[in-house]
Amino acid sequence: REQKGKLPKYPGLERYVLLEKMGDGAFSNVYRAKDTQQPGEVAIKVVRKFEMNANQDAHLHPDLKKQPKVVERANILKEVQIMRQLDHPNIVKLIDFSESRQYYYIVLELCPGGELFHQIVRLTYFSEDLSRHVITQVAKALEYLHEDKGVVHRDIKPENLLFYPAPFIPTRNPKPKSPEDEDKADEGEFIPGVGAGGIGRIKIADFGLSKIVWDSQTMTPCGTVGYTAPEIVKDERYSKAVDMWALGCVLYTLLCGFPPFYDESIQVLTEKVARGQYTFLSPWWDDISKPAQDLVSHLLTVDPDKRFTIREFLAHPWIRKSDKRNGSAN
Ligand code: ADP
Ligand code: MG
Repeated sequence: REQKGKLPKYPGLERYVLLEKMGDGAFSNVYRAKDTQQPGEVAIKVVRKFEMNANQDAHLHPDLKKQPKVVERANILKEVQIMRQLDHPNIVKLIDFSESRQYYYIVLELCPGGELFHQIVRLTYFSEDLSRHVITQVAKALEYLHEDKGVVHRDIKPENLLFYPAPFIPTRNPKPKSPEDEDKADEGEFIPGVGAGGIGRIKIADFGLSKIVWDSQTMTPCGTVGYTAPEIVKDERYSKAVDMWALGCVLYTLLCGFPPFYDESIQVLTEKVARGQYTFLSPWWDDISKPAQDLVSHLLTVDPDKRFTIREFLAHPWIRKSDKRNGSAN
């Protein structure tokens, strides 16, 4: 973890005090920060507008080396514009957007638990109950995106699923839990933020690759849907199906601790994905229920027309199994 003193100062970001770096990518750094104008903390995604591609231009004259590679302004604005329209408990909220000469600043609701990815690594894999608790929340967010907003995320993966840890209060004399407390963490093994009753509230982040698949015209209920070309209708359906495939990959990974498709060679991996070549590998999958396997197989279906939609997913017996509890999961 980075020292407070080592954190950079960004022009135009004086309202916030950076506290810690939480993530970094090719073009962006994400910081935990304190808001000086109101109580509470936020996450700030700082995106560089220019990238020095030094390696590629190593042979050039020093003055020619610093050819900036532009981060498409339109892409950042699209990410921000899509996020602005969203308001759901399982989606990271956009708080503010601004820019300086060199940077874009995307101020976001903070998810103090960090990436779901790290929890999979820490726990090796999730129980079926914990997997259901997590995947149902992701699915609720996808239902909102697909059905209400016509937005496809297109980058669903454990690194982009963040969470608020559930409160964990260890006790020496565990009491029977009331129905309202069902979702609170269980007494017992001490994994901060992760109890048998849940991991906390999951939130989808990173709308950098997202897009809207229908325009305002086709969205209007009285509209001109009857005149929409088949490829537009199909494009919409297939884009949503992309998120459902990814949801299947996440569910598979939650249940057993490793992804459904893997190979050291990119070519072989691509070939496996194209053929939908995965297995419920023994012994890891031996004790995982048939309904769970059935659900995964309906998502990891190569033909997007046959793949489950978000509605079919939410109606599946394995998801509905403890519906009462999941209904209040957060
Ligand atoms: P990128 O396009 O670089 O993948 P992301 O939006 O996914 O950008 O952010 C990169 C990483 O920063 C995430 O994987 C996560 O670890 C961290 N991060 C992003 N947003 C938040 C947030 N709101 N709260 C906590 N951590 C965050
Ligand atoms: Mg990301």
